[in-house]
Amino acid sequence: MIEVQHLTKRYGSKLALDDLSFQVKEGEILGLLGPNGAGKSTTMNIVTGYLSATNGQVRIDGLDILEEPKKAKSKIGYLPEQPPLYPDMTVEEYLRFVWELKGAKGNREEKLGEICAQVMIDDVTGRLIKNLSKGYKQRVGLAQALVGDPSVLILDEPTVGLDPKQITEIRDLIRGLAKRHTVVFSSHILTEVQAVCDRIVVISGGKKVADDTPAGLAASMSAGRQLDLLAEGDPQQVVELLSAIDGMASVERLEEKEPGVFA
Ligand code: ADP
Ligand code: MG
Repeated sequence: MIEVQHLTKRYGSKLALDDLSFQVKEGEILGLLGPNGAGKSTTMNIVTGYLSATNGQVRIDGLDILEEPKKAKSKIGYLPEQPPLYPDMTVEEYLRFVWELKGAKGNREEKLGEICAQVMIDDVTGRLIKNLSKGYKQRVGLAQALVGDPSVLILDEPTVGLDPKQITEIRDLIRGLAKRHTVVFSSHILTEVQAVCDRIVVISGGKKVADDTPAGLAASMSAGRQLDLLAEGDPQQVVELLSAIDGMASVERLEEKEPGVFA
């Protein structure tokens, strides 16, 4: 469970987040949708405790990220926009390093083996990270987020720069992860969050502008959609044909632009 309340962030005079509040329930996949510069990465950096807010509060499973940073952070797996990979390490070396860094508990080799299988990198564990494709690198980034079995996963634009096949793979992975984790992931692509998320928070200019299910968001967006067109022919017949189109709410004839052509 993640609670974000009244977050405000200023970079000097620039207001990057403006009174942003939202909640993520346990086991939910939340999509943070917004154009470049909307404040997605800033929000994620604050939620994960990497950046302090100018104002506002973040709680992870009831723990305040500033008051109990160690406990709260141990519940979070974070894949930042630039994954913190060491190119000269092998995948195996790197994940062992992350394991020690996080002070993760349990049988290291067994757990790391499980994670590698889960994100489908078990065939490259001996390879240097710098020699991996972008899709594999991103999955290694996901693997490091999963080390320590965090209940919350924060993924910042995990599909950026991947080809369509890799995007589908990462999406499927994220959907699978949501069975055991609460997931927040950001994107600037509507169809992407619609495909994966239970709920979507849309931010623009640091403000929340929508908070809805994918279906609810699609309905409210299409509600006001209007198409102006010119048609040549019998106006009555054109109106009848257009009205018969599936999903058409109403058809209105406005004026005759020129003889036999109607708007
Ligand atoms: P997003 O991830 O949605 O693209 P960001 O959170 O990276 O958005 O940025 C939000 C706004 O804050 C942008 O206008 C960006 O230029 C600005 N910004 C981000 N980081 C800094 C920084 N360190 N210093 C100054 N401005 C910043
Ligand atoms: Mg960003």
